[in-house]
This record gives sequence, C-alpha cells and structure tokens, in this order.
Amino acid sequence: MHSVIPRLVELQRVDHQVAALRAELDTFPKRIQEADAQLASAKAAVASAKDAQAHDITERKKIEFDVQQWKDRAKKYRDQSGAVKTNEAYKALQHEIANAEAEMAAAEDRQLASMVAGEDAERRVRKAEADLRESETAVNAERKRIQVLHGEKKKLLDAAMAERAKALEPVPEEFRILYDRIAKRHNGTAVAEAREGQCRGCGMRVLPHIAEELRREDNEEVFRCESCGLILYTLEPIVPPAPSSSDAANPVQPNS
Ligand SMILES: [Zn+2]
Repeated sequence: MHSVIPRLVELQRVDHQVAALRAELDTFPKRIQEADAQLASAKAAVASAKDAQAHDITERKKIEFDVQQWKDRAKKYRDQSGAVKTNEAYKALQHEIANAEAEMAAAEDRQLASMVAGEDAERRVRKAEADLRESETAVNAERKRIQVLHGEKKKLLDAAMAERAKALEPVPEEFRILYDRIAKRHNGTAVAEAREGQCRGCGMRVLPHIAEELRREDNEEVFRCESCGLILYTLEPIVPPAPSSSDAANPVQPNS
C-alpha cells in the first residue's frame, strides 16, 4: 500500500471524532432551549392559575354585592310595612319582601358555590407554584449539567483538533487536497476499507487485481473505488500460498 494511506486512515479516524464531537456540541443550545421552554410553560401555568383566581374574586365580590343589595331591600320593605295604611299595600309589600328574600337566598347560594370554587382556584395556584419551583430546580440542574458536559466535550474537541493537526502534518499537499475534496463530497469520509472484495464505503465490488495491488507492500499507487471514488486501503494480509497437496493425498481414514 502507498505510504500515505496509513496517514490518511489516521486523519480520517481523527476527523470522524472531530465531526462527532461537533455534532454533539451543536445539540447543546437546543437542549438549553428545551429546558427554558419547560420553565416558561411552568411560569405560564402559574400566570393562568392566578388570572383564573383573580377572575373568581371579582365574580365573588359582585355576588357579595348582590346579597347585600337584596338584604337591604328586604329590610327597607320590612321597615315600611309598619307605615302602610291599606291591606292591599301591605300585601304588596309582603310580596316584595318575600321576593327580595328569595333573591337574597339565591345570591347566598351562588356566594357559597363561589367560595368553594375559590378554594379550588387557590389550590390550583399553589399547585402551579409548587410545579414551578420544582421545574426551576430541575432546569437549573439540567443547565448546570449541560454546561459541564459542554465544557468536557469542548476540551475533547480541542484535543482532537490538536491531534488532527498532528495527523495532517506528514500528509503531502497533493493528498491533503485529494482527501479534502473527497471528504467534502462524502460527508466527511475520504477513505474506505476494501474487505472481502468489497468497498466498505459503498458496498460495490473491488476488482481482484486492485485488491491484490492494495495488499502488496511495495505498491506505491493510490487506488480509488470505481463507484464511490473513496480512497481504498486494505487490512487483509497477503494470502499465503495454497497448502501443499500431500495433506489432501493422504486423507485420514476413520476407524470402522
Ligand atoms: Zn466504493
């Protein structure tokens, strides 16, 4: 194999590592955004529970006002009832009193229902606030975890980049250009193993005489896959010569 091949294989190993680290680092902003979104939704839930509670309180005040109004009205009619002169006026007043008291009772029922609803609203606010506190704790922990992880991956990336510079150093200029050109077209891969007569980059056949050349130690040519164009290398050993025929000529006879 050409002396540049092991260097390109090493370069590619480092490049794949760099790419994997970059891809992972790229996911961090999104992970932070997701954590923030979780927090925002917990905050929105508190705001909405508080709005509902405020609405409830306004409604309850209106009902309280109604109760008081009907109560005052019933009292006013009762106060007037001592001063009426005719039976008819008295009857009419009694009717008004009964009506006001019925309205007051109905308003009191609504008041009671509203108070029960108010307790529910209060419970919902407390629950949403507890959820928010829980969410804040979880999101802060997640942010910290992501920051630590980001720092670790960044360090690994820096180390991999230094390793890449070292791997690139012994590669002659023309092969750097070739490598980059192929890698750009193949999602960061420029070199493929030829194994069992197949290019492992695309799965297509590698011609036997090329496989043979790849195995030869004194080969100084660089071969590329005819279908995908990746630079080929092989780890397959040179096939040993066929075993001598003497073994086949004297097969072991099983005892009968
Ligand atoms: Zn191929």
